[in-house]
Amino acid sequence: MEKTKNEERTGTTAWLFSELAKTTTKELNDALGIISETPWHLVVEFNDKHFPRWRKTPPVSLSNALAGETGEVCSVIKRMEGGGTNNHNHPAPTTEELLEEMADVYIYMILLAEVHGVNQEKFDDAMIAKITKITKRMEERMKEGEGDGLREDRK
Ligand SMILES: [Mg+2]
Repeated sequence: MEKTKNEERTGTTAWLFSELAKTTTKELNDALGIISETPWHLVVEFNDKHFPRWRKTPPVSLSNALAGETGEVCSVIKRMEGGGTNNHNHPAPTTEELLEEMADVYIYMILLAEVHGVNQEKFDDAMIAKITKITKRMEERMKEGEGDGLREDRK
C-alpha cells in the first residue's frame, strides 16, 4: 500500500522537530495524548471559572488562609496522636482527612504563587533550585565531617 503524503511527512524526524518548534507544551501534550492537566492547572481553572476576580484577592488574605489551612493540618496530626481535650468520643482522624487538609494547603500555595506571577513551571524551577541548594549544603557538610546535622537522639 502506498503511503499518503501526510503519512510520509509525519514519519520523519524532521517533521517531528518542526512540530516541536511551533507548538506549546500543552498543544504538544494534547497532540501526543499526554494528560497535561495537573492539580495546579485544575486549581487555577476552578478559580477562574467560579471566582473570576480571584487574582485581585489581597495576597495577605491568601497567606492568612494558607496559615489557617496549615493549622488545620497540625490539628489533624494532633488529633491523630491523641492530643486535644475533646477527643474522647471522636475517632482518630484518618489519613484521608489529613490529605484533604494538605490539599487545602497546596491550593492556597498555588493561589499565592499565581497572584505573584508565579506559574507551575516557575514554581517547579524554584523547587529544583532549592533542592539543588540544600543538596549541595548537605554534601559539603558531610565532606567536612559534620555529619547529617541530626541530633544523636534523633538517629
Ligand atoms: Mg481545610
